[in-house]
Amino acid sequence: MKTGAAPPKNNKNIEKTLKKLQAGRGTPYATIVVFIILHILATVLVILSSRSDIVITLNGASVPLQAFTGVFSSIANVCTIFMVVFYDKVGFIVSMIILLIQFPSILVNVFVQHSAASIPGFFTNLFTIVSVVIIHANNLKIEKYQKKIRDQAVTDGLTGIPNRFAGNELVNDLVKQGKRFAVVSVDLNNFKSINETMGQNTGNKVLIEIASRWKSLADSGSTGTLDFITRQSGDEFSLMIRGYYSDKELGRTLKLYQDALETKITEDECDFFLTASFGYAEFPADADSGDALFACADAAMNEVKRTNSSDHIMHFTPELLKLEHTLDVEREIREALDNDTIFFNLQPQFDMSHKLRGFEALARMKNAEGNIISPGEFIPVAEKVGLIDKVDSTVFRKSAGFVGELIKRTNADITLSVNVSVRHLMKNGFMKELREIIENTGITPNHLEIEITESVMIDSAEKALDRIKEIKNMGIMIAIDDFGTGYSSMSYLHNFPADLLKIDKSFIDKMGAGESSKQYVASIISIGHIMGFDVISEGVEENDQLETLKSIECDYIQGFIWGRPLPQEEAEKLVMSQLAS
Ligand code: C2E
Ligand code: MG
Ligand code: MG
Repeated sequence: MKTGAAPPKNNKNIEKTLKKLQAGRGTPYATIVVFIILHILATVLVILSSRSDIVITLNGASVPLQAFTGVFSSIANVCTIFMVVFYDKVGFIVSMIILLIQFPSILVNVFVQHSAASIPGFFTNLFTIVSVVIIHANNLKIEKYQKKIRDQAVTDGLTGIPNRFAGNELVNDLVKQGKRFAVVSVDLNNFKSINETMGQNTGNKVLIEIASRWKSLADSGSTGTLDFITRQSGDEFSLMIRGYYSDKELGRTLKLYQDALETKITEDECDFFLTASFGYAEFPADADSGDALFACADAAMNEVKRTNSSDHIMHFTPELLKLEHTLDVEREIREALDNDTIFFNLQPQFDMSHKLRGFEALARMKNAEGNIISPGEFIPVAEKVGLIDKVDSTVFRKSAGFVGELIKRTNADITLSVNVSVRHLMKNGFMKELREIIENTGITPNHLEIEITESVMIDSAEKALDRIKEIKNMGIMIAIDDFGTGYSSMSYLHNFPADLLKIDKSFIDKMGAGESSKQYVASIISIGHIMGFDVISEGVEENDQLETLKSIECDYIQGFIWGRPLPQEEAEKLVMSQLAS
C-alpha cells in the first residue's frame, strides 16, 4: 500500500488492518498435526501389515493381516489429500514432502528387492502426487480470484485508495483498541461545477490526483500523526488520524491536508484550484462508536459547508446535531407543504355528561418516506424557521373545510378549535386570511374557536389584545391553550377577551399526587369561572381524574379517556352517533 517513503513505526497498525482485510481471516494451521500423525500411523501400519504373517479370524473366516495393507495405504493417501484441500500452501508442501520421502523406499522394494507387493504402492503414490499437484494448482487459481475480490472490496475503484468499507473496519478496530483518534469527513468545495463544465472524465482525473496527493501525505509520515485516507463516495473522503496528543497537533495535520490542494491541479489542459471542507469528531470525547463518529464528523463538515466558513475546518459540537436535525425537519416541512402531505386529526372535546362539544384540529405531517412525524417534533421547528403560518393555514383551511361541510350536512352544533401560533396571529395578513378561510370553507364564525397559547399575553401584549378583540368581534371564540405553563398575571387575564381556558395536561397528570395538586386545579377552575371563562382539562386519561374534575366543576374535558385524535371518517362517525343518541 506504500506510495511514499517508509512509514513511521506505529503506522504499521493501520497497514496491518488493511492487510488483514485484504488477506482474509487466516487458516488454523495447528490442526494439520492431526493429519500428519494419522498419516504416519497409517504408513507404519502399511509397513507392518505388508510384512506380517499374522492371520486373523473375521466372522469365522481366516483373513491374513496383509489383506489390510491396501486399507491403511488408502487412509495415508486420503490424509495427504485432505492436507492440500484444507491447508493451502502449507498442506501442499507437507504432503509433497511425505509422498516424496516414501518414493525411494518404494523404488528400492520394486527394483532392488523385486517385491511385487510394492508395485501397487508405487502407482498409488504416483497418482496421489498427481492429485495433490492438481488440487494445489486449482487452489492457487481460486486464491487468486479471492484475493482480487477482497482487494476490490476494500479499494476504491477510481482512485485506488482504500474505500468506505476499509475506513469503517479501521474505525471499528480503533474503537476496540480504546485510544484517542479522530475521524475527519472531507468534502471538496464546488466539485460539482468541474463535472458540469468539463465533463465527468476530467472530474475523475481531478479526483484521482487529489486522492494521490492525500495518500502520499498519509503514507509519508511527514504529518507527524498516523493517518489513513479513504474515499467514501463522489467527492467525499475520510481521514482517520491517530498518534497526536493535543488539538494543536491534530489541527496542524488537517492544515497539511488542506495545503496539499494549494498547488493547482492541471488536467485536460485546464487548471483547477480546489478547496475542501473538513469536519472532525474525536473518539472517545465526541462519540464512542464508529457510526456515531462518522455522523458527528459529517455534521461538522456540513456546518462548514453551510456557513461557507473561510477556515474550512471545524470540530464537532453537540449543538451541531440539533442544528442538523432542525435542518432535516425544515426540509421535511417544506417537502410536505409542496407535496400537500400536511393534514389534520380531530380530537373530540366533551362536556362532563359525555356530550360532544366539538373537535380540536391537530396537525399531522407525512414525510417523503411516508412516515408520520409528530407535531411535537415539527411544530417547534416550523416556529423557529418561520414556516408555522403555512402549516397553521393548511390545517386551518383543511379542517374548516371538512367540519364546515359536516355541520352544513348534519346541522350538528359543534365547535372546531384550531391552533394558531403567536407568530402567525401577529402577521399582517392574518385577518385577511381568516376572512378568506371562512368565506371559502363556509364554516360560520360561531362554530369556530382559535387556540392561542398563554405566551401571547406575555410576548406581545397590547398588539395581540387588539387583534384578539378583532377576532372576537367576528364572532369567533378564543381559547387560551396550555394554561398554567406560562406566567400571565391575573390582572392581564382579567382583561383578556377569552371564552375558554385549557388547563395543561401536566397539571391534570399531577392531580393524583396529592390534595394540594388537586386544589391547585380546582382554584384555576374557580378563577376561570370568576373571570367568565369556561374551563376544559386537557390530557385526561384516567377515571380518577375524570371523577375529580367532575367534583371540582370543570366544564369540559379533552383526553384519551373519551377520545384520541381521529381521522376525518372516524370524527364523522362520532358526530353521527352523537346525533342519533
Ligand atoms: P395542544 O394544542 O395542547 O394539543 C393537545 C396535545 O395533547 C395533542 O398532541 C394531543 O394529541 C395531546 N393529548 C390530548 N389528550 C391526551 C391524553 O389524554 N394523553 C396524552 N398523552 N396526550 C393527549 P399533539 O397532536 O401531539 O400536538 C402537540 C402540540 O402541537 C399541540 O398541543 C399544539 O401545541 C401543537 N400543534 C398541533 N397542531 C398544531 C397546528 O395546527 N398549529 C400549531 N401552531 N400548533 C399545533
Ligand atoms: Mg391546542
Ligand atoms: Mg394544550
